[in-house]
Amino acid sequence: MANEPATLHPVARLPEEWNRIVAEAGERPFRAKEIFRWIHQKAITNPAEMSSLPTKLKTHESLQGAPIGEVERVHRSADDTRKLLIRMKDNAPVETVLLPRVSGPGSAADLESEDDDEDDELAREPANGPITRVTQCISTQVGCAMGCVFCASGVAGLTRNLGPEEIIGQILLAKREFEPNERLRGVVYMGMGEPLHNYPATKRSLELLTHPDGINLSKRRITVSTSGLIPEIQKLGEDFGGQIGLAISLHAVTDERRSALMPINKRYPLAELMKALARYPLPPRRRITIEYTLIAGENDTHEDARRLVKLLRGLKTKVNLIPMNGIEASSLGPPSFERVLQFQEIVAGAGMSCFVRRTRGDEVAAACGQLALLGATRKIRAHRKPL
Ligand code: SAH
Ligand code: SF4
Repeated sequence: MANEPATLHPVARLPEEWNRIVAEAGERPFRAKEIFRWIHQKAITNPAEMSSLPTKLKTHESLQGAPIGEVERVHRSADDTRKLLIRMKDNAPVETVLLPRVSGPGSAADLESEDDDEDDELAREPANGPITRVTQCISTQVGCAMGCVFCASGVAGLTRNLGPEEIIGQILLAKREFEPNERLRGVVYMGMGEPLHNYPATKRSLELLTHPDGINLSKRRITVSTSGLIPEIQKLGEDFGGQIGLAISLHAVTDERRSALMPINKRYPLAELMKALARYPLPPRRRITIEYTLIAGENDTHEDARRLVKLLRGLKTKVNLIPMNGIEASSLGPPSFERVLQFQEIVAGAGMSCFVRRTRGDEVAAACGQLALLGATRKIRAHRKPL
């Protein structure tokens, strides 16, 4: 928690911090939660619209924050995946993706850290037809400093960090794009940027997202994906008791190859990374997700698959294979599907859980993890109300 809550954007404040502000304004304590609920449960950030508040609070300076941004475009693909392009207030483009659940291996559900078959909400709300669970993929930075050669964000480089209000703001803004039968059931930090390279903002966004008076998403339905920043993996484990799902972008099984694809490996080599994973305080029955983007001629041999098995032996993991999505800035591309299946067979054959992740929303390039700053393909709705 920051020491000076007054400097935080109103959307980034926790109820505990509103307590102090509300007390200083001479208002009753229950107003703190009330303000927090307006923002995080109703996605109302304009104090003038918080109808239950007394005028003195509505006009209080602590509630006046600059708008976060607005949804500029929504691209919808045939499978109902929606990619939202958000313009932050300084014009920075940020993408977030809504992935309605389709069951089966490789589905959005696979991105979540927990299987959630027993869904109480489904049982409770049968009246208006079945509920569709949605996983949202969010960004933590504009671009990325990690420089992975196969990744559009990495090639673009880092423009800036997102603030916690901009990270959580993607969820508040996207709320208006939900269909009546859709519910947010999972959040994956797999959009643009390296979440652990912006750890303080990522941490606060997790606190906001899981707060019982706010969106109240269960920690086990959240997954943070990282290229392997070891000190911050440890912090994440400590700060949330291992409850937040962890995904590691591995993508190679030797230091030489991994350093060529992912420069961060020079700082945090494989052996150290594996030790850090072994130390992550995983709750019982939970596993770390290993993401392995298959790139033709780079990391896709049978030998690579066998080494992967060896590397992960003894760790509680599940492997997601992602055939690389081509990007403009690179000639690298995916292997043949046959080769992908052979790789999977070797890993699964060794008794490890291993899935091939289906690409979602291809025609709008909404593949989670490849949120490039691509041009529009189809403009279906424009200029939503700013948040
Ligand atoms: N920076 C974090 C989170 C965002 S990327 C990380 O790297 O983990 C989400 C996933 O998509 C990562 O596993 C990333 O390596 C992968 N990815 C990036 N570019 C890709 C591409 N062109 N094709 C397939 N996967 C890609
Ligand atoms: Fe950054 Fe992740 Fe892309 Fe690497 S794969 S450049 S860490 S966003």
